[in-house]
Amino acid sequence: MKIVVLAKQVPDTWSDRKINLETGMLDREASEPVPDEINERALENALLYKDANADTEIAVLCMGPEEAVKTLRKLLSLGADSAVLITDPELAGADMVQTARVLAAAVEKTGGDLLIAGNEATDGRGGMVPAMVAEILGWPVLPGLDDISISTESVTGTAQVDGGTLTLTAPLPAVVSVTEKSAEARFPNFKGIMQAKKKPLESWSLADLGAASPANASARSVMVSATARPPKAAGPKITDDGTAAAQLAQFLMSNQLV
Ligand SMILES: Cc1cc2nc3c(=O)[nH]c(=O)nc-3n(C[C@H](O)[C@H](O)[C@H](O)COP(=O)(O)OP(=O)(O)OC[C@H]3O[C@@H](n4cnc5c(N)ncnc54)[C@H](O)[C@@H]3O)c2cc1C
Repeated sequence: MKIVVLAKQVPDTWSDRKINLETGMLDREASEPVPDEINERALENALLYKDANADTEIAVLCMGPEEAVKTLRKLLSLGADSAVLITDPELAGADMVQTARVLAAAVEKTGGDLLIAGNEATDGRGGMVPAMVAEILGWPVLPGLDDISISTESVTGTAQVDGGTLTLTAPLPAVVSVTEKSAEARFPNFKGIMQAKKKPLESWSLADLGAASPANASARSVMVSATARPPKAAGPKITDDGTAAAQLAQFLMSNQLV
């Protein structure tokens, strides 16, 4: 069994995240880049299967700038066996469709039986890449799973929908995306960090994949304007002079919060 985990490098959710208002792209200097937490959960699902099935191979794929190597090293230290970074100046500003095309081409090159992704990146938040990759590969997709159960022939999991819980299953090869309710990521230990330095970590360009540059794509989305979110205004301060409850209720009602 070969499991491929899709992992994106994102700005640390605890830091002050900024976009470049000229390009609409993330200001990478403004915050610490880290593996997206949802992708650590994706990897944890693969690791849990590997813990019980030692002949499992886990490869991590990331499309991103060169410094995303740091994210891949961390995921290798958690237990992935190999990693590939697809990086190319032509990919800067790639939209979701182009990202999915590139990742699907990389999966065709690495091979794999099961692809595990996060349901939504914490920065881009398109939530479409896993389904797009599945469509391009012609594989079934099980989106937004809170838990997954893997066998040699199929993958099964549960997803919450309005009014109930669905149990979904698909034969392998398949793509699944997991939610933040899914497996909590483990911490890297010293042995894992040392081993990660020796694990295969390759860097592929568009030419290595035989994939077309986004500039030549027949259809692509283009950012036409970017506006900074207005700074948060300080809220009113309520001093309890005996009318605090009424003031609080008035505040909630006037802001349509109740
Ligand atoms: C040079 C370069 C610069 C980039 N700069 C930016 C940037 O400034 N801002 C930005 O948001 N993106 C950037 N990207 C990445 C790319 O544009 C986005 O990943 C893509 O548009 C996905 O959109 P999303 O985050 O909404 O995905 P979603 O659909 O929300 O992602 C869902 C899941 O798909 C998988 N996935 C998504 N993207 C990737 C990826 N790149 N690699 C591996 N797995 C992935 C993950 O498992 C993720 O949890 C850059 C890429 C390159 C090569």
